[in-house]
Amino acid sequence: NAPLLEVRGLTAELDTPAGIARAVDALDLDLQAGETLALLGESGCGKSMTAAALMRLLPDVGYLAAGSVRLSGRELTGLTEAQMREARGRDMAMIFQEPGTSLNPVLTVMQQIGEVLAVHRGLRGAPARARARELLEAVGIPDAARRLDEYPFQFSGGMKQRVMIAMALAGEPKLLIADEPTTALDVTIQAQVLDVLAALQRDREMSMLLITHDLGVVARMAHQVGVMYAGQLIERAPRAAFFAHPAHPYSQLLFAALPDTARRGGVATELATIPGSVPPLTTDFRGCRFADRCPRAWARCREELPAWHDAGEAHRVRCHLHDPAEAARLVQLDGMD
Ligand code: SF4
Ligand code: MG
Repeated sequence: NAPLLEVRGLTAELDTPAGIARAVDALDLDLQAGETLALLGESGCGKSMTAAALMRLLPDVGYLAAGSVRLSGRELTGLTEAQMREARGRDMAMIFQEPGTSLNPVLTVMQQIGEVLAVHRGLRGAPARARARELLEAVGIPDAARRLDEYPFQFSGGMKQRVMIAMALAGEPKLLIADEPTTALDVTIQAQVLDVLAALQRDREMSMLLITHDLGVVARMAHQVGVMYAGQLIERAPRAAFFAHPAHPYSQLLFAALPDTARRGGVATELATIPGSVPPLTTDFRGCRFADRCPRAWARCREELPAWHDAGEAHRVRCHLHDPAEAARLVQLDGMD
């Protein structure tokens, strides 16, 4: 099956005072229809920039330097801004961490969802209102008919995030990109909003690219996992394989640093306890970007960018340890003593 989303060599750069920062470096991704792919990594690893590059919502200093993005077989990188505006909302929609920043405080919920319905679905008047009400009900907002006429400030954080999700769904996108959609919410509310998203993804057979720094969220939501580090994808696996045998030393450290609640599938777990930090993306990288923090690093790691290697069924990892040539050498060394 051709994937719904096919990303090849996606490279996004930012022109910063410290130099050109390559925030997304030659990223390849495939996302099947009806599946959720979680992109996991610490802050500053390029997850949000990947989402922004896909939606073509890069900051002013940012630009796409290379690569191809195909959604349902259609190349997006060559689209004009007007074509892209049409695609955003109808083919792909995005929800952000802070619902407050994307809702307009002076418009009612109906006015905001109504605009998406008008632009992308050609719905106005009573049919639009009926549809908006269904959407609020679908995201679990009680008393939907009345709440349509309220303003964002009248909703709690969790309810605001549900409104955002309803707005994103209004255009009936095939792909939903959710960038840390629950990080700003308290733990109980996070779980509820994640359940809403999971149910919608399933019922609508929507694909979701879920950006998170939280392994608990990955465990709960993802079919596929991609791990990012310093602008690169470094591991790719089905969820079960990833949790059973994380292959990249960075992924293994993420697990080792987890509190027990998260190992049991809880949410709201930070990934901040690995010593060291992500190198600045303005660095002129040569070898493996994780080498400075990797307990397994050796000379080759600082010289040569690791290629992709197999780590199991549909499980790929970018680390020299998984190079079959290295494995043969390690076996030989073992045989010598
Ligand atoms: Fe560690 Fe080397 Fe693998 Fe990079 S390539 S993750 S430094 S062992
Ligand atoms: Mg982010």
